[in-house]
Amino acid sequence: MKIYNTLSKRKEEFVPIEEGKVRMYVCGPTVYNLIHIGNARPMIFFDTVRRYFLYKGYDVNYVSNFTDVDDKIIRAAQEEGVDSSVISERYIVECKKDMEGMNVMPADTYPKATEEIPGMIDMIRVLMDMGYAYAASDGTVYYRTRKFREYGKLSHKNLDDLQSGFREIKVTGEEKEDPLDFVLWKPKKEGEPSWESPWCDGRPGWHIECSVMSKKYLGEEIDIHGGGEDLIFPHHENEIAQSEAASGHPFAHYWMHNAFLNIDGQKMSKSLGNFRTVRDISEHYDLQVLRFFMLSAHYRSPLNFSADLMEAAKNSLERIVTCGERLKDAAAKAQGDVMTAAEEENMAAVDALRVKFEEAMDDDFNTADALAAVFEMARLLNSTVNEGSTAAYVAKARGTFLALTDVLGLEAERKEELLDADIEALIAERTAARKARDFARADQIRAELLEKGIVLEDTREGVKWKRA
Ligand code: AMP
Ligand code: ZN
Repeated sequence: MKIYNTLSKRKEEFVPIEEGKVRMYVCGPTVYNLIHIGNARPMIFFDTVRRYFLYKGYDVNYVSNFTDVDDKIIRAAQEEGVDSSVISERYIVECKKDMEGMNVMPADTYPKATEEIPGMIDMIRVLMDMGYAYAASDGTVYYRTRKFREYGKLSHKNLDDLQSGFREIKVTGEEKEDPLDFVLWKPKKEGEPSWESPWCDGRPGWHIECSVMSKKYLGEEIDIHGGGEDLIFPHHENEIAQSEAASGHPFAHYWMHNAFLNIDGQKMSKSLGNFRTVRDISEHYDLQVLRFFMLSAHYRSPLNFSADLMEAAKNSLERIVTCGERLKDAAAKAQGDVMTAAEEENMAAVDALRVKFEEAMDDDFNTADALAAVFEMARLLNSTVNEGSTAAYVAKARGTFLALTDVLGLEAERKEELLDADIEALIAERTAARKARDFARADQIRAELLEKGIVLEDTREGVKWKRA
């Protein structure tokens, strides 16, 4: 399995630190607003990476943080006149709803920066003891960038080039030894959340959060660290400087970065104001369509968002679901547990497409080619599964098809969702059964509905229902 490593700028064979295990950390969103579909790209892509490792039999420990202390969160809290935790907690809940809609598996751990402050203080203290950090008179703690010899190795930047870029922007009043130095801890300002520390009451810099959370939940050395390509510099470069200086080991073996989601040729971002939230999209489409759209391009290629491409994604996804439904119906009816000779041959062709899918995914997660293999398989299954198919063939073919769509996080069978009209009809039947004193039937209907997530409530005005 090959992974493109930003560190070496090459595809490298994946060798886990511990056999059969993958430890991965993906930088999560800053929670001050609903997530936009640019943020959704790393969520969907790295979830697919995780799913593929699971498919290959690896045990994956997946950690993704929420940055819940930050200038933008504080500003939003001040505007609403609430505590910043009200803002961050609200948008963490909303973000998790969106992730569920996009079929992103919950992380094994979702650390929050505000709950990891003691670990950050410890790491900063270690860096100070080793001479990698220093405190200014106002209590700001800086990282001594030039002391870390390998600084720039991820972003392939040269310190002197960086230095000349900084020469112009001299910030007055700062006691930095060098313009390249970055903040590990900063003093609080009036009305901001803060924590006690040996240097001043204040809060951590952004980069130290991820170094600490990754170390705590995955260990000092991890397999994969991921995020969008805007994080390469300075965020990930600084994480490396902090973590590797403190531990003396390499931090992450593979650094993976997704390219941007653009709109009209420009990066989609909150600051440019050209973003669409995942929630907006969910009003028009099943979020499976968004997921399909994201996976239709290679993750290292920029992807342009457009209404046309979303429509195309919707139609393509429909073909996958139609095939999934056909296989489901056939599985319910088919009989015979020995494949015919013709089916054996067809199954060999299905297996060959599974291999094609795996080859695409093994080649740095080429989801676009993997999807092409899924479509080829759907075509083959549509023409070879019919009334006369044996149960043996249908079961095996369906198992393969669903295993692959599941790697991509695409649900190939329609969710069994009851329509409002069906619910009302069942409630009317229950009311009639109760009138006829057929309580057994009435209870059965209530249980049936509950199983499908519909909760009934008997009130004086009649029966009310809601989706649980
Ligand atoms: P943020 O909340 O800005 O820290 O971003 C959270 C994650 O979303 C990071 O991994 C970013 O790199 C990623 N991200 C933000 N905007 C985009 C975009 N337009 N396209 C792809 N990834 C993005
Ligand atoms: Zn991070």
